[in-house]
Amino acid sequence: MADVMEKIVSLTKRRGFFYPGSEIYGGVGGIYDLGPLGVELANNIKTAWWKNIVRERDNVVGLDSAILMNRQVWHTSGHVESFADPLVECKNCHSRFREDILPKSKNCPTCGKNDWTSARMFNLMFKTHIGPVEGEANETFLRPETAQGIFVNFGNVVDTMRVKLPFGIAQVGKGFRNEITTGNFLFRVREFEMMELEYFTFSEKAEKDFDYWQKERMDWHISLGLRKENLRFREHESDERAHYATRSVDIEYNWPFMGWGELEGIANRTDYDLKQHSKESGKDISYFDEEIKKKIIPYVIEPSIGVGRMMLALLINAYTEEKAPTAEKGESETRVVLKLRPGLAPVKVAVLPLVKDEKLIKIAKEIYKDLKKEWNVIYDEAASIGRRYRRQDEIGTPFCVTVDFDTLKDKSVTMRDRDSMKQDRIKIENLKKRIGEELN
Ligand code: ATP
Repeated sequence: MADVMEKIVSLTKRRGFFYPGSEIYGGVGGIYDLGPLGVELANNIKTAWWKNIVRERDNVVGLDSAILMNRQVWHTSGHVESFADPLVECKNCHSRFREDILPKSKNCPTCGKNDWTSARMFNLMFKTHIGPVEGEANETFLRPETAQGIFVNFGNVVDTMRVKLPFGIAQVGKGFRNEITTGNFLFRVREFEMMELEYFTFSEKAEKDFDYWQKERMDWHISLGLRKENLRFREHESDERAHYATRSVDIEYNWPFMGWGELEGIANRTDYDLKQHSKESGKDISYFDEEIKKKIIPYVIEPSIGVGRMMLALLINAYTEEKAPTAEKGESETRVVLKLRPGLAPVKVAVLPLVKDEKLIKIAKEIYKDLKKEWNVIYDEAASIGRRYRRQDEIGTPFCVTVDFDTLKDKSVTMRDRDSMKQDRIKIENLKKRIGEELN
């Protein structure tokens, strides 16, 4: 199963999903760039999340706070003190690892020996400076989570948006963690985008809301096509929880390279962050409850997931190899298909003239131009039609529209479905409507 990963890494590099960061200089550890198809896939995932979390609800609003924040934020939140992992060094080969994710045998993954230094806590935040002077006073950190931007804006949202408890503030944005060990492709990197919801609620309701979000989030994963049997919940033990949480449950995915592991984390952060910020900033960060005529500091339930980790799960879930007849000879060959939900696919339609004929090309380009107004569409006239279909299957394009010589007479095209490979004849004038329906 692990070789599925090799195939996915190779396919996504070859087809422009992901490139190693700064590749021409030999790369930089745990950083990936999104290529043209990767950015489309990421945008589709973010849009699906935003629609589900913000647009379709009455009580969740969005936010986009700055990555750089006043250094005090990270002291107050406890990240300077506690956002750290235990680091150990192999005394034999000097490789460094995160102690809590060493293999069960505790043997060094690099040299195989079992001779470690004692663990020291390593803070995962990247340090930087604001302004031209590098001193402690203007030192700050790249945010390791977007949540703090939400907490420090809690009062602004309450004052300006007429929100009523319980309500949520959602944010999608970059997070940075100087992970001790990166790896497994997009699974553990040092710069990644996060989709985070902070759902503020009454302390008495927090447990019920936790259960609610657990279910909501699992349903979302299934609605995006992840197979149920590869998803499960895992409750954290008390010694694994982050410093701010009283309860944490992971939604785990059954990864081919490591078995069950975190895809998304859901935490009950209590009133810890708002209380801390209120205390340290001296500003009153509370919510006035009209019913009981009292100020309260709400509890917060936080579902948090990385866009890259979600892309990886979706790609693993979608990667399919199957026997299929070749278009030309009817013989069997292996075709690689990314069976992504059509709404998530980076390219929605490929428009293909059957052969390089001026008349066919002209019509195909007109169709291409028209469909491009709605979706990400590719035009391709290079190579045989069979090869072009396979190229689209490999990147998960749900529909191929082919213009052939009959088109000149009947003003119709064939529309090929990626998964069934069935071809339908459709009037050009009905094409847009039909694709729109299929994508919904
Ligand atoms: P771990 O214990 O695996 O380091 P965590 O429990 O610290 O992870 P959270 O703080 O819960 O992770 O992060 C929320 C989500 O952000 C994770 O579920 C994951 O989807 C994503 N994420 C966290 N760290 C990384 C990373 N280094 N690379 C990619 N995605 C990450």
